Amino acid sequence: METKIQKVAIIGAGFTGKQIAAQTALYDFKVQIYDINSTTLKEAEKYIVGVLKRNKRKEAIQKVLYYSDLTQALENTDLVIEAVPENLELKKEVFSQIDNIAPTHAIIGTNSSSYPVSRIESAVKRKDKVLNLHFYPPIPTRPMVDIMRGSETSEETFEKGKIWITEIGCEPIIVKKECLGFVFNRIWHTARREALNMWDKGNADIETIDKAWKIFTGMKMGPFVLMDGIGLDTVYAVQMSYYNESGDPRDKPPDRLKEMVEKGDLGIKTGKGFYTWKKRK
Ligand code: NAD
Repeated sequence: METKIQKVAIIGAGFTGKQIAAQTALYDFKVQIYDINSTTLKEAEKYIVGVLKRNKRKEAIQKVLYYSDLTQALENTDLVIEAVPENLELKKEVFSQIDNIAPTHAIIGTNSSSYPVSRIESAVKRKDKVLNLHFYPPIPTRPMVDIMRGSETSEETFEKGKIWITEIGCEPIIVKKECLGFVFNRIWHTARREALNMWDKGNADIETIDKAWKIFTGMKMGPFVLMDGIGLDTVYAVQMSYYNESGDPRDKPPDRLKEMVEKGDLGIKTGKGFYTWKKRK
Protein backbone atom coordinates (compact mmCIF):
# COMPACT_ATOMS: atom_id res chain seq x y z
CA MET A 1 0.00 0.00 0.00
CA GLU A 2 1.25 3.44 -0.83
CA THR A 3 1.15 5.86 2.06
CA LYS A 4 -0.57 9.13 1.36
CA ILE A 5 1.02 10.84 4.33
CA GLN A 6 2.72 13.99 3.11
CA LYS A 7 2.12 16.60 5.77
CA VAL A 8 2.54 15.91 9.47
CA ALA A 9 1.45 18.12 12.37
CA ILE A 10 3.14 17.84 15.75
CA ILE A 11 1.15 19.14 18.72
CA GLY A 12 3.52 20.04 21.56
CA ALA A 13 7.00 21.29 20.66
CA GLY A 14 8.77 20.20 23.86
CA PHE A 15 11.51 17.65 24.40
CA THR A 16 10.03 14.93 22.20
CA GLY A 17 7.77 16.97 19.91
CA LYS A 18 10.69 18.93 18.44
CA GLN A 19 12.68 15.73 17.91
CA ILE A 20 9.80 14.03 16.09
CA ALA A 21 9.44 17.16 13.95
CA ALA A 22 13.17 17.21 13.10
CA GLN A 23 13.24 13.51 12.21
CA THR A 24 10.14 13.90 10.02
CA ALA A 25 11.58 16.96 8.23
CA LEU A 26 14.89 15.15 7.66
CA TYR A 27 12.98 12.63 5.55
CA ASP A 28 11.32 15.24 3.34
CA PHE A 29 7.87 15.48 4.88
CA LYS A 30 6.20 18.83 5.40
CA VAL A 31 5.87 19.56 9.10
CA GLN A 32 3.60 21.94 11.00
CA ILE A 33 4.40 22.26 14.68
CA TYR A 34 2.21 23.85 17.36
CA ASP A 35 2.69 24.72 21.01
CA ILE A 36 0.78 26.87 23.50
CA ASN A 37 4.10 28.28 24.69
CA SER A 38 5.74 30.69 22.23
CA THR A 39 9.15 30.45 23.93
CA THR A 40 9.11 26.65 23.54
CA LEU A 41 8.15 27.07 19.91
CA LYS A 42 11.16 29.38 19.33
CA GLU A 43 13.47 26.91 21.07
CA ALA A 44 12.04 24.11 18.93
CA GLU A 45 12.74 26.13 15.78
CA LYS A 46 16.35 26.68 16.84
CA TYR A 47 16.76 22.97 17.53
CA ILE A 48 15.12 21.79 14.29
CA VAL A 49 17.06 24.26 12.11
CA GLY A 50 20.27 23.09 13.86
CA VAL A 51 19.49 19.42 13.14
CA LEU A 52 18.69 20.12 9.48
CA LYS A 53 21.84 22.22 9.00
CA ARG A 54 24.07 19.62 10.67
CA ASN A 55 22.61 17.00 8.34
CA LYS A 56 23.21 19.28 5.32
CA ARG A 57 19.48 19.51 4.65
CA LYS A 58 19.12 23.30 4.51
CA GLU A 59 16.42 23.01 1.83
CA ALA A 60 14.19 21.18 4.35
CA ILE A 61 14.20 24.15 6.75
CA GLN A 62 11.41 25.91 4.86
CA LYS A 63 9.27 22.78 4.98
CA VAL A 64 8.83 23.18 8.74
CA LEU A 65 6.28 25.76 9.86
CA TYR A 66 5.72 26.92 13.44
CA TYR A 67 2.30 27.88 14.78
CA SER A 68 0.67 29.34 17.87
CA ASP A 69 -2.71 28.74 16.24
CA LEU A 70 -4.00 25.17 16.22
CA THR A 71 -6.34 25.60 13.24
CA GLN A 72 -3.47 26.80 11.03
CA ALA A 73 -1.18 24.05 12.32
CA LEU A 74 -3.67 21.35 11.34
CA GLU A 75 -4.43 22.66 7.87
CA ASN A 76 -4.16 19.95 5.17
CA THR A 77 -2.43 17.49 7.46
CA ASP A 78 -2.47 13.73 6.89
CA LEU A 79 -1.02 12.70 10.24
CA VAL A 80 -1.16 14.53 13.58
CA ILE A 81 1.06 13.49 16.48
CA GLU A 82 0.16 14.68 19.96
CA ALA A 83 3.20 15.20 22.22
CA VAL A 84 1.76 17.22 25.14
CA PRO A 85 2.54 16.34 28.80
CA GLU A 86 1.67 12.90 30.17
CA ASN A 87 -1.77 13.70 31.55
CA LEU A 88 -4.74 11.64 30.39
CA GLU A 89 -7.34 14.42 30.67
CA LEU A 90 -5.10 16.86 28.78
CA LYS A 91 -4.47 14.29 26.06
CA LYS A 92 -8.20 13.67 25.68
CA GLU A 93 -8.85 17.40 25.46
CA VAL A 94 -6.15 17.85 22.82
CA PHE A 95 -7.37 14.80 20.84
CA SER A 96 -10.88 16.27 20.84
CA GLN A 97 -9.60 19.65 19.58
CA ILE A 98 -7.60 17.93 16.84
CA ASP A 99 -10.60 15.78 15.84
CA ASN A 100 -12.78 18.87 15.46
CA ILE A 101 -10.31 20.71 13.23
CA ALA A 102 -8.05 18.29 11.31
CA PRO A 103 -9.05 16.98 7.86
CA THR A 104 -11.36 13.97 8.21
CA HIS A 105 -8.85 11.59 6.61
CA ALA A 106 -6.04 12.52 9.02
CA ILE A 107 -4.68 9.91 11.42
CA ILE A 108 -4.19 11.04 15.04
CA GLY A 109 -1.32 9.46 16.96
CA THR A 110 -0.22 9.90 20.55
CA ASN A 111 3.38 9.83 21.68
CA SER A 112 2.26 9.00 25.22
CA SER A 113 4.83 6.98 27.19
CA SER A 114 2.21 4.97 29.00
CA TYR A 115 -1.43 5.52 27.98
CA PRO A 116 -2.84 3.13 25.39
CA VAL A 117 -4.72 5.16 22.79
CA SER A 118 -7.81 3.13 23.70
CA ARG A 119 -7.97 5.30 26.87
CA ILE A 120 -7.96 8.46 24.77
CA GLU A 121 -10.11 7.43 21.78
CA SER A 122 -13.45 8.26 23.50
CA ALA A 123 -12.54 11.92 22.87
CA VAL A 124 -12.75 11.54 19.07
CA LYS A 125 -15.24 10.54 16.41
CA ARG A 126 -12.63 9.01 14.07
CA LYS A 127 -11.91 6.01 16.31
CA ASP A 128 -10.70 4.01 13.29
CA LYS A 129 -7.88 6.52 12.72
CA VAL A 130 -6.03 6.60 16.06
CA LEU A 131 -2.67 5.08 16.99
CA ASN A 132 -0.04 4.96 19.67
CA LEU A 133 3.18 6.13 18.02
CA HIS A 134 5.74 6.08 20.80
CA PHE A 135 9.24 7.43 20.09
CA TYR A 136 12.48 6.80 21.99
CA PRO A 137 14.51 10.03 22.16
CA PRO A 138 17.21 10.77 21.18
CA ILE A 139 15.54 9.55 17.97
CA PRO A 140 18.65 9.45 15.72
CA THR A 141 20.43 7.08 18.12
CA ARG A 142 17.29 5.08 19.00
CA PRO A 143 15.43 4.96 15.68
CA MET A 144 12.41 2.91 16.68
CA VAL A 145 8.74 3.66 17.27
CA ASP A 146 6.22 1.49 19.10
CA ILE A 147 3.00 1.26 17.13
CA MET A 148 -0.21 0.08 18.81
CA ARG A 149 -3.88 0.06 17.83
CA GLY A 150 -6.87 1.49 19.68
CA SER A 151 -9.95 -0.69 20.05
CA GLU A 152 -11.39 0.36 16.66
CA THR A 153 -8.26 1.26 14.67
CA SER A 154 -8.57 0.08 11.07
CA GLU A 155 -5.94 -2.07 9.38
CA GLU A 156 -5.48 0.70 6.83
CA THR A 157 -4.58 3.19 9.57
CA PHE A 158 -2.16 0.71 11.15
CA GLU A 159 -0.48 -0.06 7.82
CA LYS A 160 -0.16 3.63 6.96
CA GLY A 161 1.39 4.28 10.37
CA LYS A 162 3.85 1.41 9.94
CA ILE A 163 4.90 2.59 6.48
CA TRP A 164 5.34 6.17 7.68
CA ILE A 165 7.61 5.01 10.52
CA THR A 166 9.92 3.31 8.02
CA GLU A 167 9.75 6.36 5.75
CA ILE A 168 11.24 8.53 8.51
CA GLY A 169 14.15 6.11 8.96
CA CYS A 170 12.81 4.29 12.03
CA GLU A 171 11.93 0.70 12.84
CA PRO A 172 8.26 0.01 13.64
CA ILE A 173 8.01 -1.96 16.88
CA ILE A 174 4.67 -3.70 16.57
CA VAL A 175 2.49 -4.30 19.58
CA LYS A 176 0.23 -7.21 18.60
CA LYS A 177 -2.06 -7.07 21.61
CA GLU A 178 -2.62 -3.92 23.70
CA CYS A 179 -0.35 -3.65 26.69
CA LEU A 180 0.68 -0.90 29.07
CA GLY A 181 4.15 0.36 28.15
CA PHE A 182 4.19 -1.03 24.58
CA VAL A 183 7.32 -3.11 23.88
CA PHE A 184 10.69 -1.80 25.05
CA ASN A 185 9.20 0.88 27.30
CA ARG A 186 7.63 -1.86 29.38
CA ILE A 187 11.00 -3.52 29.85
CA TRP A 188 12.56 -0.14 30.68
CA HIS A 189 9.74 0.42 33.19
CA THR A 190 10.88 -2.57 35.25
CA ALA A 191 14.49 -1.41 35.28
CA ARG A 192 13.49 2.16 36.15
CA ARG A 193 11.12 1.04 38.90
CA GLU A 194 13.74 -1.15 40.54
CA ALA A 195 16.45 1.52 40.23
CA LEU A 196 14.13 4.07 41.88
CA ASN A 197 13.20 1.67 44.68
CA MET A 198 16.85 0.84 45.40
CA TRP A 199 17.70 4.57 45.51
CA ASP A 200 14.72 5.26 47.78
CA LYS A 201 15.55 2.45 50.20
CA GLY A 202 19.26 3.35 50.23
CA ASN A 203 20.35 -0.05 48.88
CA ALA A 204 22.93 1.53 46.59
CA ASP A 205 24.03 4.97 45.36
CA ILE A 206 22.79 6.26 42.00
CA GLU A 207 26.40 6.30 40.74
CA THR A 208 26.81 2.62 41.66
CA ILE A 209 23.55 1.59 39.98
CA ASP A 210 24.44 3.57 36.85
CA LYS A 211 27.96 2.07 36.79
CA ALA A 212 26.65 -1.50 37.08
CA TRP A 213 24.08 -0.90 34.34
CA LYS A 214 26.72 0.55 32.00
CA ILE A 215 29.17 -2.31 32.53
CA PHE A 216 26.48 -4.97 32.08
CA THR A 217 24.67 -3.49 29.08
CA GLY A 218 27.54 -1.68 27.39
CA MET A 219 25.35 1.42 27.23
CA LYS A 220 26.87 4.88 27.74
CA MET A 221 24.24 5.94 30.31
CA GLY A 222 22.75 4.37 33.41
CA PRO A 223 19.10 4.62 34.49
CA PHE A 224 19.53 7.77 36.60
CA VAL A 225 21.25 9.70 33.80
CA LEU A 226 18.53 8.45 31.44
CA MET A 227 15.80 9.64 33.82
CA ASP A 228 17.47 13.06 34.18
CA GLY A 229 17.42 13.28 30.38
CA ILE A 230 13.78 12.24 30.06
CA GLY A 231 12.69 14.79 32.68
CA LEU A 232 11.67 13.81 36.21
CA ASP A 233 8.18 15.32 35.77
CA THR A 234 7.61 12.91 32.88
CA VAL A 235 9.22 10.01 34.79
CA TYR A 236 6.93 10.68 37.78
CA ALA A 237 3.80 10.98 35.62
CA VAL A 238 4.59 7.77 33.75
CA GLN A 239 5.36 5.90 36.97
CA MET A 240 2.03 7.12 38.45
CA SER A 241 0.21 5.95 35.37
CA TYR A 242 1.64 2.43 35.83
CA TYR A 243 0.76 2.53 39.54
CA ASN A 244 -2.81 3.66 38.87
CA GLU A 245 -3.16 0.82 36.41
CA SER A 246 -1.55 -2.00 38.39
CA GLY A 247 -2.19 -0.96 42.01
CA ASP A 248 1.12 -2.76 42.68
CA PRO A 249 2.92 -0.89 45.54
CA ARG A 250 6.25 -1.59 43.78
CA ASP A 251 5.07 0.68 40.95
CA LYS A 252 4.37 3.64 43.27
CA PRO A 253 6.99 6.33 42.64
CA PRO A 254 8.97 7.22 45.78
CA ASP A 255 7.80 10.32 47.70
CA ARG A 256 11.35 11.64 47.34
CA LEU A 257 10.88 11.72 43.58
CA LYS A 258 7.63 13.66 43.97
CA GLU A 259 9.42 16.16 46.24
CA MET A 260 12.13 16.68 43.61
CA VAL A 261 9.47 17.35 40.95
CA GLU A 262 7.63 19.81 43.25
CA LYS A 263 10.93 21.63 43.91
CA GLY A 264 11.50 21.96 40.17
CA ASP A 265 14.49 19.59 40.09
CA LEU A 266 13.46 18.03 36.78
CA GLY A 267 16.80 16.80 35.45
CA ILE A 268 18.91 18.10 32.59
CA LYS A 269 16.29 20.64 31.47
CA THR A 270 16.42 22.54 34.79
CA GLY A 271 20.09 21.87 35.63
CA LYS A 272 19.38 19.58 38.58
CA GLY A 273 17.84 16.16 38.99
CA PHE A 274 19.57 13.08 40.36
CA TYR A 275 22.77 14.73 39.14
CA THR A 276 23.71 18.40 38.70
CA TRP A 277 23.91 19.58 35.07
CA LYS A 278 24.91 22.65 33.18
CA LYS A 279 21.47 24.15 32.45
CA ARG A 280 20.21 23.21 28.98
CA LYS A 281 19.60 26.30 26.91
P1 NAD B 1 7.63 18.49 27.47
O1 NAD B 1 7.09 19.03 28.72
O2 NAD B 1 9.06 18.69 27.13
O3 NAD B 1 6.76 19.02 26.22
C1 NAD B 1 5.37 19.12 26.25
C2 NAD B 1 4.97 20.36 25.45
O4 NAD B 1 3.56 20.40 25.30
C3 NAD B 1 5.38 21.67 26.13
O5 NAD B 1 6.18 22.42 25.23
C4 NAD B 1 4.06 22.38 26.42
O6 NAD B 1 4.10 23.78 26.27
C5 NAD B 1 3.16 21.76 25.36
N1 NAD B 1 1.74 21.80 25.68
C6 NAD B 1 1.11 21.72 26.87
N2 NAD B 1 -0.21 21.78 26.70
C7 NAD B 1 -0.44 21.89 25.36
C8 NAD B 1 -1.60 22.00 24.56
N3 NAD B 1 -2.81 22.00 25.11
N4 NAD B 1 -1.44 22.12 23.22
C9 NAD B 1 -0.21 22.14 22.67
N5 NAD B 1 0.92 22.05 23.37
C10 NAD B 1 0.81 21.92 24.71
O7 NAD B 1 7.26 16.92 27.52
P2 NAD B 1 7.90 15.69 26.70
O8 NAD B 1 8.97 15.06 27.51
O9 NAD B 1 8.16 16.11 25.29
O10 NAD B 1 6.66 14.68 26.75
C11 NAD B 1 5.56 14.83 25.88
C12 NAD B 1 4.90 13.49 25.68
O11 NAD B 1 5.86 12.59 25.09
C13 NAD B 1 4.44 12.82 26.98
O12 NAD B 1 3.27 12.12 26.74
C14 NAD B 1 5.59 11.87 27.30
O13 NAD B 1 5.18 10.78 28.08
C15 NAD B 1 5.98 11.43 25.91
N6 NAD B 1 7.33 10.90 25.77
C16 NAD B 1 8.37 11.50 26.44
C17 NAD B 1 9.64 10.96 26.31
C18 NAD B 1 10.82 11.58 27.01
O14 NAD B 1 11.91 11.01 26.96
N7 NAD B 1 10.66 12.73 27.63
C19 NAD B 1 9.84 9.82 25.51
C20 NAD B 1 8.76 9.27 24.81
C21 NAD B 1 7.51 9.81 24.95
